[in-house]
Amino acid sequence: MRIDILTIFPGMFDGPFSHSIIKRAKEKKLAEIHLHDIRDHATGKHRRVDDYPFGGGAGMVMMIEPIERCIASLQAKKNHDEIIYMSPDGDLLDQPMANKLSTCENIIILCGHYKGIDERIREHIVTREVSVGDYVLSGGELPAAILTDAVVRLIPGVLGDETSALTDSFQDRLLSPPVYTRPADYKGWKVPDILLSGHDRKIAEWRHEQSVLRTKRKRPGLLSDER
Ligand code: SAH
Repeated sequence: MRIDILTIFPGMFDGPFSHSIIKRAKEKKLAEIHLHDIRDHATGKHRRVDDYPFGGGAGMVMMIEPIERCIASLQAKKNHDEIIYMSPDGDLLDQPMANKLSTCENIIILCGHYKGIDERIREHIVTREVSVGDYVLSGGELPAAILTDAVVRLIPGVLGDETSALTDSFQDRLLSPPVYTRPADYKGWKVPDILLSGHDRKIAEWRHEQSVLRTKRKRPGLLSDER
């Protein structure tokens, strides 16, 4: 899978993309991630990427031209399954959306800043808008990193243990059961006996039961098909 990310702050991805799972996915060549500085596609002496809003008001708006030129240069080389704009008013990112996107070959992710991007980019170029939650961040970079992580970890071969993404929360509309590791007794805080029993079927039953209980308690909406 190839992900092209358009941003005015490519340096913001240095941390999240050079550690852990995403780093491993890149090394194994299962994910190719390219960062594009929108400013490189700006014209004029000052290479402006933002301008004052028509109609007045506070805040700057990201201009069409540098974004359109950057996307056009990518489209000249490839077809893209989705051109995603990270936006607080987009579809809320959830596990089914991440699952679906993980089957794409090529996606573009566009990060906004300031007041957002000129609406015409959204109307004419963007194919999908994704939000990471009902709150406003300063830019689309952190949301794009979240989306990339959620998607890349699902690409077959990225996670060491193939089954581990399937047993994560939300995959079957259930939250994960509690997990424990050594020591079995820490100052009197004990691990449930069943997990030490070595009885695989009973352990699986207990885990499922705990998943259902936890989901009922913390996220009952998942069981009744609401969010
Ligand atoms: N004025 C806009 C917010 C702009 S925030 C509004 O009220 O809707 C600047 C940029 O940060 C946006 O263009 C978007 O790319 C990104 N962003 C902010 N919050 C986000 C969220 N919850 N999910 C995804 N992207 C977000």
